[in-house]
Amino acid sequence: MIIVLKRDRQEVLEDVRSRLMAGGFQYNVLEGVKYTVIPVLGDLTTSDISRFRSIDGVDKVLRISSPYYMVTKEYRPKSVVDLGDGVTIGNNFQFIAGPCSVEGEESFDRIAAFLSGLGVKLLRGGTYKMRSSPYSFQGLGDEGLRIMKRVAKRYGMKTVSEIVDLRSLDFFLEHVDMIQVGARNMYNFTLMRELGKSGKPLLIKRAPSARLEDFLLSVEYVLLEGNEQVVLCERGSISFDDASRNAVNMAAIPMLKDISHLPVLLDPSHGVGVARYIPAVSEAAVLLGADGLLIEVHFDPSNALSDGFQSVNFEQFSRIFERTKKIQNCLGNPCF
Ligand code: PEP
Ligand code: MN
Repeated sequence: MIIVLKRDRQEVLEDVRSRLMAGGFQYNVLEGVKYTVIPVLGDLTTSDISRFRSIDGVDKVLRISSPYYMVTKEYRPKSVVDLGDGVTIGNNFQFIAGPCSVEGEESFDRIAAFLSGLGVKLLRGGTYKMRSSPYSFQGLGDEGLRIMKRVAKRYGMKTVSEIVDLRSLDFFLEHVDMIQVGARNMYNFTLMRELGKSGKPLLIKRAPSARLEDFLLSVEYVLLEGNEQVVLCERGSISFDDASRNAVNMAAIPMLKDISHLPVLLDPSHGVGVARYIPAVSEAAVLLGADGLLIEVHFDPSNALSDGFQSVNFEQFSRIFERTKKIQNCLGNPCF
């Protein structure tokens, strides 16, 4: 960290010095013509640097190191999330696919049969839906999770579903292989901590208004509680442009892969929000080094109970699956 104060504020310098000494930091004092600059060395991960910022007379406080640690490559070079039975994320390209919502056993089975036939190992489906409108379909709740579990077992697949609050945690732990934290819940740190204690594999989505730093800090909560079975998911941010549902920052994929040891997935379905553009964006994600894709699939998107407009049909999904496989084969080693 670097602290900058006005040169003529001797009493402020003394205050800053005594606080730095009390905190056990190493520092230097460089007196310029107008300003005094104090480079500070020491572990600032757990320090609240805004305390220095709030001292009257301190002009600027600049953080040099990142405010998170456990999510970074300094902590660990690479992580692979293990869902059991040989299904992992982080060492081979994975698809998490399925409908936005579990609509019933028959329709869910039809989608699972198609996906498992292609070789997809991870089946998604929302049963507690965080819909923008209270009048929209809210999901089948616990019954939906029971359906997921039964159907996935039939096809030897692993399940991924979004939790919305702590009341259903025990039920999720018992019925789902990987718990999704949706974009709207990324800032729910109480939920993050409890999921951290659970040790369950997690798929955590970036909130639509979160900076990369906010996202990683939120994931740091989970790792601090001892759960390192986490996959990061980019799903687009809010933007002024309503041509797509969100603006997908494709650069976030190589950036997250560079900063963090955790696997990174792209969700083009919620990011782009228009089914016809999802194949092209999916292919780009492979080139950018993503560890996989989360894609909403439905046999009849125009009659889906939620997010039909962004759901690809079976034909579109098959094409994405085949073409991304070809790209992976050409690429060889991943970028990071
Ligand atoms: C979802 O995956 O069904 C979902 C609601 O996504 P998000 O939280 O990214 O909007
Ligand atoms: Mn959806």
